[in-house]
Amino acid sequence: MIIAKSEEFTNPLVEAAQIIRKGGLVVFPTETVYGLGANALDAKAALKIFKAKKRPVNNPLIVHIAEKKDIKKIVASVPAMAQKLIDKFWPGPLTIIFKKKEIIPNEVTAGLETVAVRLPNHALARAFIREAGVPIAAPSANLSGRPSSTEASHAKKDLGKKPIFILDGGRSKFGVESTIINILENPPVILRQGAVTREALQKVLGQVAVLNSKNSKIISPGTRYRHYAPRTKLALIGSSWQASPKEIELTIIKYHLKNKKVGVLGTRENYHFYKKADRVLLLGSQKNLPTCAVNLYKSFRDFDRFGDVDLILAEIFPEKELGAVIMDRLRRAAENYSC
Ligand code: AMP
Ligand code: MG
Repeated sequence: MIIAKSEEFTNPLVEAAQIIRKGGLVVFPTETVYGLGANALDAKAALKIFKAKKRPVNNPLIVHIAEKKDIKKIVASVPAMAQKLIDKFWPGPLTIIFKKKEIIPNEVTAGLETVAVRLPNHALARAFIREAGVPIAAPSANLSGRPSSTEASHAKKDLGKKPIFILDGGRSKFGVESTIINILENPPVILRQGAVTREALQKVLGQVAVLNSKNSKIISPGTRYRHYAPRTKLALIGSSWQASPKEIELTIIKYHLKNKKVGVLGTRENYHFYKKADRVLLLGSQKNLPTCAVNLYKSFRDFDRFGDVDLILAEIFPEKELGAVIMDRLRRAAENYSC
């Protein structure tokens, strides 16, 4: 289904591409989350993204391309290590940092000499970029700080106060953002954990570091902000994966004594611990972490939409593979809040 503002459009892809070439914005689906795209070669167009999302201008954008060969137009060189990653993971949910060419304006990279590039594995996304004929700068299609959009309706809710063109590709396949890796560092460093796991990258590259919050300001400006968060307060509960459900059960009682309504974000296996909660949203089974990841942001948004709890208690996940990615997002959502 295509949601479009124009009555007279015939081919939505052609219309979307025209909007881009005229310096406008288009929401489009990818396999990770929805993007809010503009012509990456047009500084003025890129600035509209920051305005629409209320995004700080020092938070650089990822540039999306439709074909591997298009990388040459925008980056100064492709190091051997990057080529290995391209061969293995593109098209796909991996964003790679390169030295940029002059053609990419500073507005897109927030003044950095590097540019983040991704080739999405999504037929509609690639057809749209191809049709536009230019690389597309696109952050996630949500208001800054909110959970990324995993459905067109989320983007419409966040950004649709003014007319906005949305290509609707249904629900996102992964539901968490792309992994961002900087191979210009030695050893290579993951700037943002995402749909391609650290373990998968290590199989190709050997040692791979993960950015921690202390050095994040310098290397990847966008990672400093509270991110991916529901409006409702969220706290991670438990000293370990195994202990988490029991500790949630006790914390519910504690908050009820203070007359607070409590929601739980957990897994199906632990549902029986949460009988006293005022609302329980299940991400899925612990045996199926991809499903848990897909449901994460939608659950955040659903808690806000229901608006009937004072606090969300989230279960702890095991810190490996996609579990590590889910924990990263939960930690960011819980930042500045502990209970
Ligand atoms: P978003 O597309 O909203 O998920 O955000 C993209 C993220 O990519 C930003 O928050 C930055 O942290 C990161 N990023 C983009 N370009 C660069 C770059 N040149 N160097 C380091 N990190 C980058
Ligand atoms: Mg984002």
